[in-house]
Order: sequence, then C-alpha cells, then structure tokens
Amino acid sequence: MTSPASLPDSQLQDAQLAHAQPLPLTPISVAFGDGIGPSIMTAVLRMLAAAGARLAPEVIEVGEAVYLQGVSSGIGRNAWESLRRTGVLLKAPITTPQGGGYKSLNVTLRKSLGLYANVRPCRAYAPFVPTLHPQMDLVILRENEEDLYAGIEHRQTREVVQCLKLVTQEGCERIVRYAFEYARQHGRRKVTALSKDNIMKMTDGLFHRVFDEIGAQYPDLEREHQIIDIGTARVAVHPERYDVIVTLNLYGDILSDVAAEVAGSVGLAGSANIGVGAAMFEAIHGSAPDLAGQNVANPSGLLQAAVLMLHHIGQGEAATRLQNAWLCTLEDGIHTRDIQGEQTRTLVGTAAFADAVIERLGQLPRQLPAVQHVPADRPLSLSYARPPAAPIAKQLVGTDVFFEWSEGERDPAALAAILQSVQQNDLTLRMITNRGVMVWPDGLPETRRADHWRCRFLGQGRVEHRQVLELLRRIDLTGLDFIKTEHLYTFDGEPGYSLGQGQ
Ligand code: NAD
Repeated sequence: MTSPASLPDSQLQDAQLAHAQPLPLTPISVAFGDGIGPSIMTAVLRMLAAAGARLAPEVIEVGEAVYLQGVSSGIGRNAWESLRRTGVLLKAPITTPQGGGYKSLNVTLRKSLGLYANVRPCRAYAPFVPTLHPQMDLVILRENEEDLYAGIEHRQTREVVQCLKLVTQEGCERIVRYAFEYARQHGRRKVTALSKDNIMKMTDGLFHRVFDEIGAQYPDLEREHQIIDIGTARVAVHPERYDVIVTLNLYGDILSDVAAEVAGSVGLAGSANIGVGAAMFEAIHGSAPDLAGQNVANPSGLLQAAVLMLHHIGQGEAATRLQNAWLCTLEDGIHTRDIQGEQTRTLVGTAAFADAVIERLGQLPRQLPAVQHVPADRPLSLSYARPPAAPIAKQLVGTDVFFEWSEGERDPAALAAILQSVQQNDLTLRMITNRGVMVWPDGLPETRRADHWRCRFLGQGRVEHRQVLELLRRIDLTGLDFIKTEHLYTFDGEPGYSLGQGQ
C-alpha cells in the first residue's frame, strides 16, 4: 500500500496549479485511503490540476492504518482539525479491518459533520459502457444521518436482539426539501419518494407526510410516492422512469448500489455527502484490495465525486471541462478493464486513463450529451431553520412493559394471569404481543412464541409517572424480568404509538 505521507510533494502541488492564478485556492482535505485508493486519488488530483481546479489540498490520514493504531473510529485528531478548517473532504475508499471494535468511518463522518444529504447520480453511458438501460439518468438522494443507522442495538433476551429505528421531523424535512430544491436547480421534472409506510406507519409515515407537505410547495415539479420494494424492483427494470428519488437511509443505501450496478458499473459512480458546514465526496465503490498496486482500477468513480465537489465549491467551469473530457475518453473507447465491452478500443490502466482525460480537456463529446456550465448555479447547501414549536397536548395514557419470559409452554394466558394478579385498577393489562403479533387476549396457537413479550397496560385517561412506577414495583415482586418499558402518549389526542390488532 502506498502511504499518503510517502507521496511526493510535487504531486500535491500539481493539484494546486491554477490557470487563473489571481483567484484564491480553495482548501480541501484529501484522504488517499487504502487498497486502490492512493492510485486513483493520485490520478484524480492530476486531472483536477490539469483542468484548472483551484485547490489547496491538505492530506489527512484515515482508514486502515489509523484503525490499526488503535483508533476505533479510523480518524485521528489532526484529521478532524483539517476537516473543521476546510469543510470539504475528497476521500478515496478505505478498508475497514475485519473483526469487532471498529466503527464505520463513513457513518462517523456523516453524523459528526451533519452530512444529512447523500447525493448519488446514476446514469448510463451507452453505448460506450455496456448497460441494459441506455436511457437511465436518475439521482438518488438518501437521508444520511438517521433511521436504523443510529447504531442503537440491544440484546434484550436470550433469543431476541433489537435495533432502534429513529426518524425525526427535522431529518425528513431537510432531505425532502433538499430533493425538491435539487430537482429545481438541475432542471429535473419529477421527485419520487420511496418508503415502507404501509408497514411502518409512524416512522416511514412521517417521512411520507413531510414529502407530501413540502412537495405541495413545489407545484412546478411532479411528485409521487411508491412503496420501497416495488420501487426498487422498478428501478432495476425501468430506471428510465425515474428522475430524482428521495428516501430514508437504509433504503437509499441499498437502492443506490442497485442503481449504480444497473447503470453499468459500480466503478463509475461518485457521491456527495452534503451538510450545512461541511461536505464529503467519494466514489461509491470500496478499496478493492484485489486490485491494489496493479494500476488497473478505474478512477472514474472518484473523478465523478471530484466533479461534484468542484460544483459544490463554486468551480463549475473546471467541473464542466473535466466532465466533458471524461465523456470524450469514454466515447473514444479508452477504457479500464471493468468497463471493457464492444466499444473498447484501447484498454488502459489507472494512470493512462487519467492521461487520456487530460489530453481531451477542452473537447466536447460527440454523442453523449455534453455538460453545460451554468455560472449562476449556486452550490446547494441548505440551512434549516427549526420552526417555533407549536403548542401540543401530550398526555401519558399507559405503558408497554417488555419481558423476557419462557416458562412452561410459553402460554401467554399464564403470563397474563401473573400480571393481572399484581395490576391495580388504574393501569390494566389490555394486550400481549410476541414479536408484534397479538397472542393475548386473542391469538392463534400456531403463532411462534419467542421469549420476548410486549404487555400493554392502559389507564382510564391521563396516567401519572408514579402509577407506572407503582406498576413496575408490583411486577418486580413477581420475579418477572422486565427488560424495558415504552411509555404510551397521545399527542393532541392522537395515539403516539402503534395500535395492536383489536385495539
Ligand atoms: P469493492 O467496491 O471494493 O469491490 C467490489 C468489486 O468491484 C471488486 O471486484 C473490485 O475489484 C471491483 N471494483 C471496485 N472498485 C473498482 C474500480 N475503481 N475499478 C475497477 N474495479 C473496481 O467492495 P468490497 O470488496 O465489498 O470491499 C472492499 C473493502 O472496501 C472493504 O474493506 C470494505 O469495508 C471497503 N469499502 C469501503 C467503502 C468506502 O470507503 N466508502 C465503501 C465500500 C466498501
């Protein structure tokens, strides 16, 4: 592996070359990454310099070497300081060492820097890159900070583990507004939201509701909502029907790889992670250890990320020159082996591919649509003003108590009998579910029963916290193992919890 520190200064200084010297250089942090990272980053910095990008790169060390020094996040203090200074990171892929204890560097960066919008353009370059969907040209906007990626997981019983899905109003508003603004700015006509609100009525339901509310403020744009499963299937088979897609974190993670693969090659796609005060740009592929040190990797994904970065920092002219030269290179059949096909005329390695792009700077593609530079384009980095909180009537009405219990035949009626023996009239047992399926007072004998039970207690109206504490105190006397509680609230009279069957 080439160590970033061992790269000659001249290569970094190359990236500072400026065609228009009087204009200031933009400081950026650069991470050379692991595996193929150093070789594709070196190629990309050469292309940036040749295209006239006005950059002052600061090299930071992140990834495998940092992990192996015992830093579990993969990023040290000096790197954070550079990121705080520059607010922009161009990052090559890194290798996460196998084994426990290592945190995902990407998740750490996204959350710590508040990079709430993940932007992934996925388009076909037919006929120059083989694809089944030559008309495909879509952009996926993935919420980047919330959802199941909160990383809050618990083992609760012998048999059951849990992962908490957290979705906030603000998180939904930020990404949904970003999607509509992005569509407007880029001349797109339609925004499609994908969620699973037929099942997750509260979390995904919030996302869908926010999408409808904010979408109504953009009458010039078409909008639609689809369930994520059929939406993903359609992206795989009819990607040309989509334009801008906005979705929650996990769905977006999966969908964007599907889309990149369908477009032709994972090696061609770049992505931007945008926050209010910082942004990170990277290829979507990993560090490809199988190709490291062979000079065969395609630098295009990282180049696409660099083009997104140039737009973001207001250097759209260099971005346009670079993108058009890259399209010319594809058209001329100068390909790395991952995109080899009928149109390939010269098979090249990483460095020669960069040379070919540099030779074509100033040219426009003949067949693929050329990119137009629009000087008025402003970088899209939306701040969010939290609206003043409207008054809301929040009332405690009961509690769900979760138990680990596996006595006898795991007959829910037996558990209900114990709980009813200690309950008082102000908070009574109404329902028991097992993995969300009602097993008491109604239920089917066929339902499989894990050792994890949710027992719902409701009052006659408003309930006080001390009543819940008293209930738990009395349950404790039975020797049952209560593993957690979730309080049940109404908000302006609407239940703030999912209702069980028969409720
Ligand atoms: P990968 O993307 O590195 O490789 C998948 C396949 O695609 C391999 O066959 C590889 O040779 C090929 N490939 C990837 N990039 C290519 C390129 N630029 N040119 C040509 N071929 C290319 O995925 P993986 O093998 O699952 O992961 C390898 C390592 O990368 C792991 O340690 C993983 O954690 C890490 N990773 C890092 C990031 C990141 O830093 N953003 C993202 C994904 C994976």
